[in-house]
Amino acid sequence: MPDPPAGESLAARLARQIAASGPITVADYMARANAHYYAMRDPLGAAGDFITAPEISQMFGELVGAWLADLWQRSGAPGGCRYVELGPGRGTLAADALRAMRAAGLEPPVDLVETSRALRTLQAERLPQARWHDTVDSLPDTGPLLIVANEFFDALPIRQFVTTGSGWTERMVTHAEGGFLPLPGGRIDDSPIPEPFLLAPASTIFEASPAGAAVVAALSTRIAAQGGVLLIVDYGHANSATGDTLQAVRSHRYADPWTEPGEADLTAHVDFEALARASPLRRFGPVEQGAWLRAIGIDLRADALARAAPDRASDIAAARDRLVESDQMGLLFKVIALAASGWADPAGFA
Ligand code: SAH
Repeated sequence: MPDPPAGESLAARLARQIAASGPITVADYMARANAHYYAMRDPLGAAGDFITAPEISQMFGELVGAWLADLWQRSGAPGGCRYVELGPGRGTLAADALRAMRAAGLEPPVDLVETSRALRTLQAERLPQARWHDTVDSLPDTGPLLIVANEFFDALPIRQFVTTGSGWTERMVTHAEGGFLPLPGGRIDDSPIPEPFLLAPASTIFEASPAGAAVVAALSTRIAAQGGVLLIVDYGHANSATGDTLQAVRSHRYADPWTEPGEADLTAHVDFEALARASPLRRFGPVEQGAWLRAIGIDLRADALARAAPDRASDIAAARDRLVESDQMGLLFKVIALAASGWADPAGFA
C-alpha cells in the first residue's frame, strides 16, 4: 500500500482501509476515532465539546477525596496507599480530591492512566508529582490502590451486536457514497448476548464493552492482592439492556457518530451490571449520582462554600443542582464501588 498522503484525515484513512480490507467492527471504529480525538486536544470546558462533573464544581473532587480518606481511615489507615485515576482529563478531579485527602492526613503518590499526550501535558501542570501509564498493566504492584474513574468507561470502545431475525451478528462499519454506515455483519456465536435477549426481535441492538470489563478485571486482581477500592462514576444503566447508545458530542451538541470520526467525542452508556460481573470484589451500588453525592454530604459542602463566598452563592447552588438533580446529572449518572475484602464498607451506598 502506498504511504498515506501527509495530513490525511482519520476519515480518509479509515475509508481507504475499509476499501482495501473490508468493513471494520464498531469497536475498532470507536477506538480509532477516540484515540485520534483525545490525542489532539483538550475537549473539556465551555470552549471544548463537553463538560464533566469535576469541571462543573470543585465540590465533586473534594467529596470524592473525602470519601476515599474516610474509607481509608475506617479501614485502619494502612500505609503505602496510592491514588490512581483513569482518564483524568484536565487533572481537576485529582487536584481537588488530593487537597481533601491531605486535609484528612492522607498524602498518596499519584499514578495516572492516560493515553492522550495533549491531556498529559495539562495534567502535569496540576499534578507535577504524578507518574503516567498507558494502561493499567504498569501500575505499581505494591500498596493499596485508591482508584477513581469518572467518565472514563463511557469512552472505551464497545462492540455492537444486532439481530437479523435469523440470529445475532456483529455490527460492522462500512464506507459508501462518501459516508460511514453501520450494517449487520456475520453471524456470531451467542456467547456475548445475555440469555434474556437471545430471542429479541429483529434489529435489536446489544452492546458489550470487552475493553471495560478487562480493565475492571485487571484492577480487581490488583485490589484483591494489594487492598484498596475502585470507584466508577459514569452515565449508563444499572442492568444490562438492549439499545443503541453510541453517541457523538461536539461543541456541547449531539452529532452524528458516523460522520467525521475523530472530530467528536464518541461515548456509549456504561453497563454497570456487566462491569460488576467482571469483578470478584465486594460490590457497592450502582446508586444514582444524585443520591450518592447527597449521602456523602454535598449539601453541607455547598452551604460551607456559599458561606465562605456569599457573592458566589447562586453559582454554587446551580452547580450543586447540576450534579444532583434528577433532570440534570443526578439520575443518569451512577456510582459503583468495588472494595477489597478486609476494607470497611464505603460510604454513600446504604
Ligand atoms: N475524568 C475526566 C475526563 C473524562 S474524558 C473528567 O471527568 O473530567 C475521558 C478521559 O479518558 C480523557 O482523559 C481521555 O484522554 C481518557 N481516555 C480515553 N480513552 C482512554 C484509554 N483507552 N486509555 C486511557 N485513557 C483514555
